[in-house]
Amino acid sequence: MAENPMLKFISVDRDMPQKRDASLRNTDFQEIYAQFADQKAKEQSSRCSQCGVPYCQTHCPLHNNIPDWLRLTAEGRLKEAYELSQATNTFPEICGRICPQDRLCEGNCVIEQSGHGTVTIGAVEKYITDTAWEQGWVKPITAERERDESVGIIGAGPGGLAAADMLRRAGVQVTIYDRYDRAGGLLTYGIPGFKLEKPVVMQRNEQLEKAGVEFVLNTNVGEDISFDAIRGKHDAVIIATGVYKTRDLQGPGSGADGIVRAIDYLTASNRKSFGDDVPEFDSGELNAEGKRVVVIGGGDTAMDCVRTAVRQGAESVKCLYRRDRANMPGSQREVANAEEEGVEFVWLTAPKGFTGDAVSGVMIQQMRLGQPDATGRQTPEEIPGAEYVEEADLVIKALGFEPEDLPTLWGEEELEVTRWGTVKADFRTHATSLPGVYAVGDIVRGASLVVWAIRDGREAAESILEELNAGVQVAAE
Ligand code: FAD
Ligand code: SF4
Ligand code: SF4
Repeated sequence: MAENPMLKFISVDRDMPQKRDASLRNTDFQEIYAQFADQKAKEQSSRCSQCGVPYCQTHCPLHNNIPDWLRLTAEGRLKEAYELSQATNTFPEICGRICPQDRLCEGNCVIEQSGHGTVTIGAVEKYITDTAWEQGWVKPITAERERDESVGIIGAGPGGLAAADMLRRAGVQVTIYDRYDRAGGLLTYGIPGFKLEKPVVMQRNEQLEKAGVEFVLNTNVGEDISFDAIRGKHDAVIIATGVYKTRDLQGPGSGADGIVRAIDYLTASNRKSFGDDVPEFDSGELNAEGKRVVVIGGGDTAMDCVRTAVRQGAESVKCLYRRDRANMPGSQREVANAEEEGVEFVWLTAPKGFTGDAVSGVMIQQMRLGQPDATGRQTPEEIPGAEYVEEADLVIKALGFEPEDLPTLWGEEELEVTRWGTVKADFRTHATSLPGVYAVGDIVRGASLVVWAIRDGREAAESILEELNAGVQVAAE
């Protein structure tokens, strides 16, 4: 009888693709993990125990058929593994790189729970689709038949692009409007290259462009074209604009030069990697080189800022967070990567103000964790008299993002929003309060994840297709 290629988790240890040494990787913006070798991908996939009820799949927002594509990979049937993986995920090579797997699929893998170390699902997913691109298995997007209906999508981030992919495959005419000069949203200008190299994103943009998706770039909806005009041009509209308003810092000196927003800082760095002309970087305003950098915040954006500053040649990089390591929102994997690269975390500290007209220091209030709040999370409280000044030449605010006020910006009071300002949309269909208008991704969820934006985009495309098909049937009767 042929040997079972699976269930090898007892004899084969968990192993990730090789991570480049911190002293090499902290000087460039290339990804930090190497690719799996073919044999390694097979071996790691073979650790899966092929659960009858796969919790990995339940906890993947796209419900990817993980056990089946792991088995196909272990059997060397990579092309079939790719076909299966791309059936549920528009951008598997992107999710494989940047999903917080420790909180999603891998964190719920049963062999992780039983102490054997999770199957490295994300690394295998990336390997399968990177190989598919190399081997030419990723086919151009083609429509079975062209349709007359058109959909306008506002925002070319992962939510908008995932919807565009699905609609175009169904033959719908798709136009995407974006205020930036390149598509990709935060995949292009937010997330740094050491987590997601830019050619990986650009090849997807090109695939959509070749499929006939029309990109109308450098076009800010609400300024260059009205929302109403877009509604008038299309049979349906998807709002996929993300969240970009930065939570601000208060306190004396908070308007000083040298205190910058994380999104501006990361965008400038990403633009530089594209070879663009970036005056704010060249002037030093958004460049950490030779500076004592302090980043304020404990989420993934803060992690991306500190690691970018290291790569730009900062003299020192410190991250201030008002809770402790165990209570920070950012991924522990990213904290470990940052520490290896030379970042210092200063836990239980909150900024009270800033010194200097051009910032020279952050006035720090030391904190301790007090009683748990209603959610069970301990609330940070000030330690009386425990204050000091942390010297800094560049302070980066990474305290999270909020939605812009779309109803006011677009003069569309009928577009209902929640009390947080996110657009109200049906959980399943993604329909908003305006007929024919749908909303997906961060503008609905608040700052979230790429994989959720992809899911929303795919589901909104499905609902639009249902509506369009129903309309066609009615017209034919
Ligand atoms: P976005 O990606 O924000 O795209 C929105 C697009 O809409 C943008 O291109 C914008 O220019 C355009 N737009 C906005 N307003 C207008 C307008 N009025 N007119 C025209 N165009 C407009 N998630 C992960 O899963 N893993 C990570 O590692 C990760 N790292 C992150 C790091 C950073 C620094 C940040 C900020 C976020 C990170 N995220 C990560 C979150 C993730 O990037 C977002 O959840 C995701 O990109 C949301 O997708 P979206 O399509 O809703 O919006
Ligand atoms: Fe895991 Fe994300 Fe891939 Fe789902 S999409 S299998 S959560 S890495
Ligand atoms: Fe395999 Fe882990 Fe998923 Fe079970 S939970 S099917 S072992 S990857």
